[in-house]
Amino acid sequence: MLKNDMISAILSSLRAFDPFSDTLDILIISFVFYQLVLFARRSRAGQLVKGIFLLIVFYGLAVMLQLRTVTWLLNNVITIGFMAAVVIFQPELRRTLERMGQSATWSSKLFGSYRRADPTLRGAWQNAVVAICDAAEQLSDTRTGALMVLERRNNLDEVIRTGTPMHADVICEMLGTIFYEGTPLHDGAVVIRDGEIVAAGCVLPLSNNLEMGKDMGTRHRAGLGMSENSDAIVVIVSEETGIISMAKNGVLIRRLDRQNLFNMLQEEVVPPEEASAENVPLLQRILRKGGIASHADTQ
Ligand code: ATP
Ligand code: MG
Repeated sequence: MLKNDMISAILSSLRAFDPFSDTLDILIISFVFYQLVLFARRSRAGQLVKGIFLLIVFYGLAVMLQLRTVTWLLNNVITIGFMAAVVIFQPELRRTLERMGQSATWSSKLFGSYRRADPTLRGAWQNAVVAICDAAEQLSDTRTGALMVLERRNNLDEVIRTGTPMHADVICEMLGTIFYEGTPLHDGAVVIRDGEIVAAGCVLPLSNNLEMGKDMGTRHRAGLGMSENSDAIVVIVSEETGIISMAKNGVLIRRLDRQNLFNMLQEEVVPPEEASAENVPLLQRILRKGGIASHADTQ
């Protein structure tokens, strides 16, 4: 009986196969699963997701073997478990949803890159990148700790509010003065927006990544945390070792020299000169082909 039902369900779904909507369906589900796996790996939910997966497998087996009581029990456990998971992982879920809404990661590929496509900021960012690299090199030589956050698309007003507001050009000497030990603003992070220093002494969210080396303390944790919570690029200079690192999308790239740092920052934050074919986001390209002018064209 159950077998017949299953076969007729499979046959009717095969008959109703629509190449476009079904392909889209599969792509969306694959994407959702991929994001779930990434979420589980990045957050402390890893073990829990494995547990839920096991429960679902048991549930499937129980249904197939028609074990009514076990099915009933697992059904309730899974329902309550999901509700408990939503409560326990509320901070992580909130952060993930916030990131989705902030045009980070996936949406940036559709609507634009992380870099602002504003060519008027190109000069300011180019100068800023040179100054940041010079400063990072000097601070590394003198073993002075530094934390610099480079804002991209995600608005960092909340972080800026934790520090002291400033309006200063990004100059190597300025960064050297801010991070010089003993000055009031040397603790915390500098935030750079549109190629300008807008705040210093800012407090960043700490990462709870368990895979971070024991040799790294709160400065590196704060830099990594900022890059997990936003699309910002963070440059970190270690006071203890002089090592220059860059955090991006929750990944810490360590042991950078001036040239590597320069190339990466150039790529990540300096707006492109003109929107060349590969810099034009996917959605914009499609709209252009269809002869529809998008808002991004006029930016
Ligand atoms: P280093 O290699 O430079 O020693 P570290 O990763 O070992 O760095 P700590 O030695 O703990 O980190 O560095 C402490 C400094 O990091 C603080 O004095 C402060 O300037 C900065 N810092 C710590 N937490 C934060 C935070 N949440 N936001 C911004 N800056 C922070
Ligand atoms: Mg330390």
